[in-house]
Amino acid sequence: MSFDPLELPASQPCDVPVLDWTHRLTQLGPSFFTPLQPTPVAAPRWAARNDALRTELGWPAELFDDDHLQAFAGNALMVGSQPLATVYSGHQFGQWAGQLGDGRAIWLGEAQSAQGPQEIQLKGAGRTPYSRGGDGRAVLRSSIREYLCSEAMHGLCIPTTRALSLVASPEPVRRETMESAAVVARVAPSFLRFGHFEHFSAQGDTDSLRTLADHAITHHLPECQERAALWQGNVYAALLDEVQERTARLLVQWQAVGFCHGVMNTDNMSLLGLTIDYGPFQFMDGFDPGHICNHSDHQGRYAYGRQPNVAYWNLYCLAQALAPLIDDHDMTLQVLEGYKSLFPRFLGDAMRTKLGLTGTLAPESEREADWTLVEDLMQILASERTDYTLFWRRFSEAVAAGKTCMDRHASLAMTDPEFPVTASEAWQSMDDLFIDRARWQAWLARYAKRTDPAQWPDMGIQMLRTNPKFVLRNHLAEMAIRQAQAGDFSEIETLYNLLKSPFDEHPGFEAYAALPPDWAAQLEISCSS
Ligand code: AMP
Ligand code: MG
Repeated sequence: MSFDPLELPASQPCDVPVLDWTHRLTQLGPSFFTPLQPTPVAAPRWAARNDALRTELGWPAELFDDDHLQAFAGNALMVGSQPLATVYSGHQFGQWAGQLGDGRAIWLGEAQSAQGPQEIQLKGAGRTPYSRGGDGRAVLRSSIREYLCSEAMHGLCIPTTRALSLVASPEPVRRETMESAAVVARVAPSFLRFGHFEHFSAQGDTDSLRTLADHAITHHLPECQERAALWQGNVYAALLDEVQERTARLLVQWQAVGFCHGVMNTDNMSLLGLTIDYGPFQFMDGFDPGHICNHSDHQGRYAYGRQPNVAYWNLYCLAQALAPLIDDHDMTLQVLEGYKSLFPRFLGDAMRTKLGLTGTLAPESEREADWTLVEDLMQILASERTDYTLFWRRFSEAVAAGKTCMDRHASLAMTDPEFPVTASEAWQSMDDLFIDRARWQAWLARYAKRTDPAQWPDMGIQMLRTNPKFVLRNHLAEMAIRQAQAGDFSEIETLYNLLKSPFDEHPGFEAYAALPPDWAAQLEISCSS
């Protein structure tokens, strides 16, 4: 199907200038993108507006008035916006996929903000020259998931693209069934992906590759200049090094919170180490290292436990793409080695923090002993399929309740298992999570030996700030989706408010932190979005 942007209906400008645009990406030149207009959608309606993000960015309230509804639907252009779609390539499910590009994400521009320049994209705003067979649209279902998960990740302090607004339209969109359309406005300092670099490298266009790398370093990763000192002044090796470290940190955070991305193709990997492209993602319910959240991923390539290695594989692709710039094979491999040592170190620190065992300066022997404690715990959780989020939260509450409380609970349970253990509810609810309680108790005894009982209340408080009460479980998103499809967007707001501060108690909303209902296991999330 041929594509001519000029055939698209021209959008009407939104004539109140509210943002101060910069557009540094456009300096890259025409081989990096195609200027084009979004395609209007019928009868747009606000489904969500992220006032907290707007305020954080210092953007005025007018941005969310009804004139701007048309701009966020892709039906009008804000004054000063310069819409375009960028080209990238990538490896999908381990295979070179060739040219991809923004098939349905239209870049509106880059605007100044209180957090530095931010790029804005409309996802689902129509076809582009990179849409291939796709319709350029996103359905309401997947857009709600992206909107909520972006903000949930931010609430969890995990680097991510942000979601500014969600606009729904009754326009029909064909997926497995007929669904309705939506447009998410997402925001990030840069939407550059590994795939942008792979694209120019695969074409043998080293000049464009260098232009792109220089752009990324100058505007988004200036710390590479200093880091080059570690790599004999090679700033492109420093770029790869910076990205591998950010990726290691990101993957540690995903693993620690039980997040499965689902489609870790190289075109879905952010150069800035942000979580990007929310599709069939899932926060695990029962802990299972082999958990596959994407029902289209038949081989389990992107299973939870494989994510860290896939990230390394993806970094290897980025390294190959940057090879003509780094121009030193051994150095490139040495940079990649960084991931192999940083990832386990950062993961060890993260898991120790989850257990209330802080101190990144701990001696190596202590770290190793703690890692054994972590691994043994993970084995128990895996063999019992213990609910991952509930385990960590209840354990944090129990540790906060104190060791005296645990001992009392244990002795009561020993003498009379039916005894109403009101003073040790927190410990009782821990026991309730396990079938093989003796195995859990044996692990707990090791934990108790490793720690100072007097410190438990303080450790527990710290753990409650590390182990969230609320995550965007599939069934929670599903309930918001079903209500929204029936025209009621209020559940999106409710979830948003819980997820943006997931470590808080939110009294009255306990049901949102409970075990998933039985029907949740039947939910099938595929790539289709
Ligand atoms: P994803 O797997 O969602 O990261 O998408 C892979 C590629 O397909 C990217 O280039 C997307 O822009 C493109 N794409 C996905 N869905 C659509 C769609 N409905 N219309 C056009 N392009 C799409
Ligand atoms: Mg993608």
